[in-house]
Amino acid sequence: MILNDFCDELSDALFPPLCLACSDVLSGAADQVFCPDCQRQITFITGNRCPVCGIIFPDSPSEDHLCGNCLEHKPWFSCARAAVSYEGVVLDAIRRFKYGRDITTGSALATFLSGFEFDDLDFNMFDAIVPVPLHIKRLRERGFNQSLILARALGKKHNLNVDFSLLKRCKLTLTQTGLDKTERQKNISGAFVAGPREKIRGRNLILVDDVYTTGATINECARTLIKTGAAKVAVLTLARVL
Ligand SMILES: [Zn+2]
Ligand SMILES: [Zn+2]
Repeated sequence: MILNDFCDELSDALFPPLCLACSDVLSGAADQVFCPDCQRQITFITGNRCPVCGIIFPDSPSEDHLCGNCLEHKPWFSCARAAVSYEGVVLDAIRRFKYGRDITTGSALATFLSGFEFDDLDFNMFDAIVPVPLHIKRLRERGFNQSLILARALGKKHNLNVDFSLLKRCKLTLTQTGLDKTERQKNISGAFVAGPREKIRGRNLILVDDVYTTGATINECARTLIKTGAAKVAVLTLARVL
């Protein structure tokens, strides 16, 4: 343990942690990943929101009503929560992680997510964390699943098992970028297949992904798990399109 501490200190002295956005040397807490200036540019998702999909209501005095989307088509997940808005320094870092295959940025983002307090989500109520899977072809191209890296950090922080065997992506879909909500739903329909029923039936599960855009992908994942017998599926993402 003492040797580990010494190695960490030596590593920090030789390779000090840098801000994910501007590369300034960080001098704060061990879980700090953005410098104070860059951190101030981030929009944290707080305040009144739809209790199901988590979209914020900037002009509404209360959160005891569903948003128009959830009223029209109630999602399969019980609630979706995200830490921050998908813009600016966060958007840049997530893109570098996914498309630039920058694992160092990925693990810093995972630290950032696991340090976030989701005030209305009780992790003790859940049995396992399920990362949104990539198709095997995408996984081979990218070399890693970004959702699994985020899920592992959350699992460690909240003492929950991460089980990627519960959901597989069986259909190689077109990228969802540029598609509207209906096209996204059509594109993603039937894209996932659930793992062993006995490991899913009656379980409360948390799905983890990097970004919530329209919710079409995550809703299809939740539908697959609920249809296989999951009792409840909640959703956590690092960022959300607002
Ligand atoms: Zn910075
Ligand atoms: Zn909603």
